[in-house]
Amino acid sequence: DRYLSGLDKSKRSFSERIRRLSLGFRGIDEEFLEELMVALLEADLGIKTAQKVVDEVENRALDRKLSSFDEISECLVEVLRDMYVSYEDEAMHINEQGVTVIYMVGVNGSGKTTTTAKLTKSFLDEGKKVVLAAADTFRAGAVDQLATWADRLGVDCIKGRENGDPSAVIVDAARFAKEHHADYLICDTAGRLQNKTNLMNELSKMRRVVEREIEGAPHEVWLVLDATTGQNGISQAKIFTETTNVTGIILTKLDGTAKGGIVIAIRDLLGLPVKYIGLGETLEDLRPFDIDSYLYGLCE
Ligand code: GDP
Repeated sequence: DRYLSGLDKSKRSFSERIRRLSLGFRGIDEEFLEELMVALLEADLGIKTAQKVVDEVENRALDRKLSSFDEISECLVEVLRDMYVSYEDEAMHINEQGVTVIYMVGVNGSGKTTTTAKLTKSFLDEGKKVVLAAADTFRAGAVDQLATWADRLGVDCIKGRENGDPSAVIVDAARFAKEHHADYLICDTAGRLQNKTNLMNELSKMRRVVEREIEGAPHEVWLVLDATTGQNGISQAKIFTETTNVTGIILTKLDGTAKGGIVIAIRDLLGLPVKYIGLGETLEDLRPFDIDSYLYGLCE
């Protein structure tokens, strides 16, 4: 299965770390807990989340008097799962009356444009009508890149001039999507992080203008994060969540990293759901995120 094989690198390296722990295993002692901490940090859980996981594994193991390594590694997977499901996720906000508007936000290079194309493909596969807004007018080439995807996918893409006002593109696109009775309008927005105030102003303007065109829009704001940037990605995510109302995360390039723990760290630190994961560069390489498939086979 492509889902599992895309995550091979990440899972294999985690399994190897866990297997390494089993070698000198003599029970839950200081040494074991330290080594577990190191394994979790290597998987990119970050210090805070990793410490929480270690404490919880220790508590549960002592409570239940777990002694074999297998029991403890099962307990570890259970703790990771519980950490993820401790937040209740809302279903995707759909505009039943008209166009559902999705904003894609994130820094340049995170995979925003490619992910927009992948998402379009998955909505088209469900028989939905999609319109795209190329509102990333600041990254050179981003507009053309999205327009090329749109051509390949056979969908309309509303464009603006390079360095033009992204909000103007969004207004045009919203009107076009309404007129053409689209189900979804996906907006590839600009991701400049150099200046938080600028980013905030840009994003809030984009929200204001679209609200006037389509009630309740944007219905979803998805932050695209490159999983290979590890803890940096978490800092970026914090800036975006402090700046605008992010409703979900799309984690890209998980195929290229051995550090899948970032999923758990994001959840623990930001409470946001991971909506999709990116496992490659083609249109098919986007998967709805599912915590059970994600953890499956982790400690074998
Ligand atoms: P943007 O600047 O955020 O719009 O980023 P792009 O969509 O241009 O993506 C940057 C690079 O990352 C491109 O070469 C993409 O093909 C690549 N990319 C995006 N998503 C993934 C993914 O899930 N896996 C891999 N391996 N590459 C990806």
